[in-house]
Amino acid sequence: MTVWRWLAGLFGRGAHDVIEIPPRAWAALCAQLPELAALSTEDRERLRPLAGRFLAGRPFYAGGAMELTDTMQLRIAALASLPVLSLGMDWLAGIRSVVVYADAFEVDHEEVDEAGVVHHVRDLRAGEAWSHGTLVLSWADIEAGLDPDYAASVVIHEVAHFIDGANGAENGFPPLGKGHDRARWTHDFQAAFDRLNREVDMGREPAIDPYAATNPAEFFAVLSECFFRLPDALWHFDAALYEHLSRFYGQDPRTRFAALSAGKIPAGV
Ligand SMILES: [Zn+2]
Repeated sequence: MTVWRWLAGLFGRGAHDVIEIPPRAWAALCAQLPELAALSTEDRERLRPLAGRFLAGRPFYAGGAMELTDTMQLRIAALASLPVLSLGMDWLAGIRSVVVYADAFEVDHEEVDEAGVVHHVRDLRAGEAWSHGTLVLSWADIEAGLDPDYAASVVIHEVAHFIDGANGAENGFPPLGKGHDRARWTHDFQAAFDRLNREVDMGREPAIDPYAATNPAEFFAVLSECFFRLPDALWHFDAALYEHLSRFYGQDPRTRFAALSAGKIPAGV
C-alpha cells in the first residue's frame, strides 16, 4: 500500500474526501498518456484533486487473478475524471465502485433478433457501466491507450455512459446545460448517426469506430472517447458534433492537441 491509499485509510473515505496525489506520480502519469499530456499545466493541476476525489470516493476491486496496483488505480481515476474537468465531480456520483480485470472479460446477456426471438449470448467486453454503479474495466485495453494512435479509451467510453445516464436513461442524450440548443443537438446527432449507419450498411470504412452505429448510447460513448483521444478525427467526421461535445464537456481538446504538437505545452515531467 503506497502513501495516498494509506492516507485514505487513515482519514476515511467518502464523496468529499480527497486523496493527495504525490506531484511526482501525477507528472509521470501526465507524461505517459496523450489525453493528459495535451492538458495545460493549469488544467493538469485542476484535474489532480478531481482524480484524488475519484480515488477517495469509491473502492477498487481486482477481478479474477488481477493484481491491481496504486499506479493502475491512479491512471483509471485520472482518465475517469478528465471528462468532468469542467462539469464537476457530481456527474460521476453514479459510479460507486470500480472492478478491473487483467484482460477482456466474458459477459452473458440477451439479444432479441429481428423476429423477436430472445437469444442468450456470451460476449467478450473491454468495459461495462453497470446500472447500479459499478464501472468494470479490462486493464489490457487501458494499457493499449499508451499508444497515441490508438483511438479507443475504454475508461472514457464507460464514464460517458454514466454521464449519459445522469438523467435516468442511457440514450445518447445527456442532461444539457442552459444555453445548449436541445433541438439542434438532437437534429445533428440523429443525422450523423443515420449517416454512420448508412456507411456501415454499405460496407464502407467509417472515420470513427463502427461500434458507434450500434445505438445512440454507444454513439455518444464512442464520440466521447474520440473527442478526448483523437479530436481531429472527430472534427473531420462531423465538425458540428465536435462543437456540441466541446460545449457540453466545456473543453476543447482539438486546440490543446494542436498546442502540444506545436511544442507550446511541456509534455514531460
Ligand atoms: Zn458502450
